[in-house]
Amino acid sequence: MDDNKELSLFYFFCYNIFKKGQIMKKIFFLILFSSFLFSNTCNLPKNIKKIVNELKVNPNESDFFNNDLANLCVKRISFNDENITWDFTLVWNPEDKGPFYYLPHDDEDAAFDTAVYSANFYGGGFLAVNNNEERIYKGIDPNRNFYKNKYTKNILTIINSFKEDYYPYITLHNNKNGYKGNGGKGTISMLKEDKYHKSFPVKNISNKFGDLADEDNLIYLVGKNVNKKKVDVLNFYGINVIYELVTKKTYDGSLSNYLVIEKNNDHYLNLESEMGNAKIQKKMLDLVISFIDVF
Ligand SMILES: [Zn+2]
Repeated sequence: MDDNKELSLFYFFCYNIFKKGQIMKKIFFLILFSSFLFSNTCNLPKNIKKIVNELKVNPNESDFFNNDLANLCVKRISFNDENITWDFTLVWNPEDKGPFYYLPHDDEDAAFDTAVYSANFYGGGFLAVNNNEERIYKGIDPNRNFYKNKYTKNILTIINSFKEDYYPYITLHNNKNGYKGNGGKGTISMLKEDKYHKSFPVKNISNKFGDLADEDNLIYLVGKNVNKKKVDVLNFYGINVIYELVTKKTYDGSLSNYLVIEKNNDHYLNLESEMGNAKIQKKMLDLVISFIDVF
């Protein structure tokens, strides 16, 4: 039976019940009708259903059950890539398409908070690796596995299904305070620079946790050359920028490097905030979304 025929039979059924039915029948009909209306909102799109398995969610896992997820679709999905079974949380806003994020590191909780905030506020959603709050997944860094493989193909299929076309690829990360060798604990800082990572700090660069200008709060841009227009806009709004220059020689298996080298695509942003600082990451996100057409 095709969809139209099914629908017209459904309406005929409704009409008859309302015309002839008793009160109980009407109540029964209303329950049936509302379940019909709401049954399809959180189904996985067909092209994603083909490539993933839906897994049961753990009722104690906060990634699946917290009040901020109440109005969003939340699924636990998995797929196999060679010898590894990958496990993800997929979240999307059933009302609106919008920006869509990839979160490879499960130990970066502020990034998760920021993604949930964005899905509620701007639509779209995110795909996050499930890994018991760890960074390395079965021996692999999920952000060093982007090569011509099934992992990459499936993740891009999922992102592209939910992302509104005019949004760039966006990832959300958190990094530890400062950097090793300078009294800090992390590896990422505005105060570090090398041949392939050009630093464009804001003028009032600091090391204060609550400060947008903190050395650990920054946006990574990526490309074969520096796009100064993008840098200037971010700096103007008080956001630090590191521009990563990607070459075949420096290719590191990250999503950004894959996009630049394999897809010749530099429409990519990585919003980095210090570990635990979702407040600043949300602030960066609000700013970026307000002038997203630059990227
Ligand atoms: Zn990360």
